[in-house]
Amino acid sequence: MKLQRNYKFWFCTGSQDLYGDECLKNVADHSRIIVDELNKSGVLPFEVVLKPTLITNELIRKTFNEANIDEDCAGVIVWCHTFSPAKSWILGLQEYRKPLLHLHTQFNEEIPYDSIDMDFMNENQSAHGDREWGHMVTRMGIERKVVVGHWTSQAVREKIASWMRTAIGIVESSHVRVMRVADNMRNVAVTEGDKVEAQLKFGWEVDAYPVNEIAEAVGAVSESDTNALVDEYYDKYEILLEGRDADEFKRHVAVQAQIEIGFERFLEEKNYQAIVTHFGDLGALKQLPGLAIQRLMEKGYGFGAEGDWKVAAMVRIMKLMSAGMKDAKGTSMLEDYTYNLVPGKEGILQAHMLEICPTIAEGPISIKCQPLSMGDREDPARLVFTSKEGPGIATSLIDLGDRFRLIINSVDCKKVEKPMPKLPVATAFWTPQPDFATGCEAWILAGGAHHTAFSYDITAEQMGDWAAAMGIEAVYIDNNTNIRDFKKDLMLGNVVFGK
Ligand code: MN
Repeated sequence: MKLQRNYKFWFCTGSQDLYGDECLKNVADHSRIIVDELNKSGVLPFEVVLKPTLITNELIRKTFNEANIDEDCAGVIVWCHTFSPAKSWILGLQEYRKPLLHLHTQFNEEIPYDSIDMDFMNENQSAHGDREWGHMVTRMGIERKVVVGHWTSQAVREKIASWMRTAIGIVESSHVRVMRVADNMRNVAVTEGDKVEAQLKFGWEVDAYPVNEIAEAVGAVSESDTNALVDEYYDKYEILLEGRDADEFKRHVAVQAQIEIGFERFLEEKNYQAIVTHFGDLGALKQLPGLAIQRLMEKGYGFGAEGDWKVAAMVRIMKLMSAGMKDAKGTSMLEDYTYNLVPGKEGILQAHMLEICPTIAEGPISIKCQPLSMGDREDPARLVFTSKEGPGIATSLIDLGDRFRLIINSVDCKKVEKPMPKLPVATAFWTPQPDFATGCEAWILAGGAHHTAFSYDITAEQMGDWAAAMGIEAVYIDNNTNIRDFKKDLMLGNVVFGK
């Protein structure tokens, strides 16, 4: 998927006029070199734009307000080359509303032992100036990322790149609109939540539509459009008839093709980027959207099953954060379904009735048509595959009544030991960190859901930073987790975020 906007990040260097014009010229030259080299490195996913050196209160305030207004600006990177008295920044920072990165670097890598004098020290004192600036940002309670190290370092560049993707998740969050074509499944607790509070915290618009309104849009899709898409499916995927009649099978597949086109037109026309469905509330739809939803997720739409709008929005955000990433391995909604409890081989089989995003697939993708075993509709067509190996994160955003909490579990994805020929759904399989028992215990203590927004491409740090920017609690379950300390994390969350 591609982002709609051509995002850029502004590079703002702090200084003052105490050291004379020559020093300020050097400051500007150094900043230009740093920005050029960062852009040339090929490491950053977005362009960095150099802004004039900030030396007065007026210019600082004006620059931050311009950053607010510029829709393509996704954040500001600040570095204080010399000393920049931080009271100059108060009004600008107070009014600034976008992601902020403090790049704590220095133009020269090594102390120039032979030539260093006081002029050099005064010109190259970010060790000093960045502390003054950081003090003010901390005093003002502003959420920001601090990246430390020389600007030529690969590790530093990768940290900036990673933060840029977090920033996209932050600025795009308030443009996420979720279409609910069904309410949450009756009696289910964990998929519920306060939609007003979600809009206040995350900027999400979560709206309901009668299912038959979207079913009408599906019905309006022409036979020729539908057949063209069916042909595309038959070219792209393996067809596993498994004893079914070939024509009957194709008719079932065509129902999903018509749903895919109809849903996408409806979502585009009404400007929604995420959708929820519910197998028990399908109106005039002939099948539960399976293959159709899988394809929409692959295109970048968020999705949550059984009315789970929080997961739909989180899947959308994680897809935005990983958009355009080279060698991306995929992002999907998943559900903790069933366990393998054999000692040494413990893990959670991830699946859903149908709706797993094919971006996480490894190997061939097939179409199967099988009974759903729930609901009262035709046997839906779906894409079936297994998923990639390697580390990933599973996230669960829950509503605790007085606040949202984001649970972030680092997981290790594996292949299952044997094929599962009778299972007609896409799957993944993982062992939660730090180990199966501790990971599951912590997840349950934290109140984590069975639906997750999962990604191979986004890190726990990025999601934790995203949560911090949203002003909500985040807890991490990873190789550093032990239950005694994790309970203290939860207690601390109650103190800080509980009402
Ligand atoms: Mn479910």
